[in-house]
Amino acid sequence: MATSGPGDFIPLCEPTLAGNEWAYIKDCLDTNWVSSVGAYVDRFENMVAEAAGARHAVAVVNGTAALHLALQVAGVGADDEVLTSTLTFIATANAIRYTGAVPVLVDAESDTWQMDMGLVEAFLRDGCDRAADGAVVNRRSGRRVSAIVPVHIHGFPVDMDRLMALAAEFGLVVVEDATEALGARFHGRALGSFGRLGCYSFNGNKQITTGGGGMIVTDDPDLARRARHLSTQAKAEAQEYIHDDLGYNYRLTNIQAAMGCAQMEKLDAFTAAKRRIAATYSAAFAGYAGLTPQASLPGAEGNMWLYALRVDPSAAGVTARGLIAALREVGIQARPVWQPMHLSPVHAASPVLGGAVAARLFDEIISLPCSVSLTEVQQARVIAVVDRVLKDKAPQPVVAG
Ligand SMILES: *Cc1c(COP(=O)(O)O)cnc(C)c1O
Repeated sequence: MATSGPGDFIPLCEPTLAGNEWAYIKDCLDTNWVSSVGAYVDRFENMVAEAAGARHAVAVVNGTAALHLALQVAGVGADDEVLTSTLTFIATANAIRYTGAVPVLVDAESDTWQMDMGLVEAFLRDGCDRAADGAVVNRRSGRRVSAIVPVHIHGFPVDMDRLMALAAEFGLVVVEDATEALGARFHGRALGSFGRLGCYSFNGNKQITTGGGGMIVTDDPDLARRARHLSTQAKAEAQEYIHDDLGYNYRLTNIQAAMGCAQMEKLDAFTAAKRRIAATYSAAFAGYAGLTPQASLPGAEGNMWLYALRVDPSAAGVTARGLIAALREVGIQARPVWQPMHLSPVHAASPVLGGAVAARLFDEIISLPCSVSLTEVQQARVIAVVDRVLKDKAPQPVVAG
């Protein structure tokens, strides 16, 4: 492999495969254990369960499938409503829709970018009624509100103190979208372990990767058993091809799990590298009025999966998209945040609580390169380009005299 030069392309977030990946995958090939049963699947599940502080883990083909299955075994069904962030990757809202439920899209807080719990509380207290059986019913739509899916954006926590208290009071099932949050903590507890079920993703750009993969974690043995059963076509009797439910082919393969085991061995090192990169960026950008990194709550230990800033165009003299274009010109990949779900043609028909903050964040957020493998020289190059663009464009102070 060529060593990187000063003008080389710097990707946003690429995997680091420098551990036992080759050895473990070769072991699968050598032994013929390549498919959806094998020792690495079990080992990978145990490693993720331990990292999450959860009793059970079920490996599946990707994070989207994890969310779909978790919602289904949590009892979310057709014509339920499920609260979630409007500012999220589309997989969260899609998974809710796969169950037949309708997402209720909650606006973001302007500093943490997480689901605005004030809006959630106002909706539950003032916008819903209690049915005779205790169910919480959206007064406008007449549908039962059965669950809440907090999305820990960029590996920072949603306010789970407030969320868990509201979920308990209103009888909502909590399914965490912790797909970006493996290795992150809140009050010392792993994100993904607060809810009835939590979901992780091992897509290529996530904190660890299996190429594609996902995991459901839970303390409930029945939910884990049911998720595992449904992930393997609900096969009741292996020999006779007898199935007792409408299942899915969602199980992770042993090859992918082998890669996952090697990646899990590096999780702490990856997270430490990401934190170092984030600290370097934040120190470098501290003096710029127009740049604000994502804020986190007291008690949060983010995994710093993706480093992102908010660009205030009036103070910075450049928009987030302008800065992204300037970086692209010199071979540096930067990206905006996701289009909020209430603005997506796919989910625009869903109920939305607020939405203006997320729409503005969509205009103003930029993610910068933060691969574990990012070198100091590469990071200095990114910082220098941002510095140059802001110095060129920012309004100059008026010098007296
Ligand atoms: C990555 C991601 C997912 C889905 O994970 P896949 O493994 O890509 O299916 C879901 N929600 C969020 C917020 C994500 O970032």
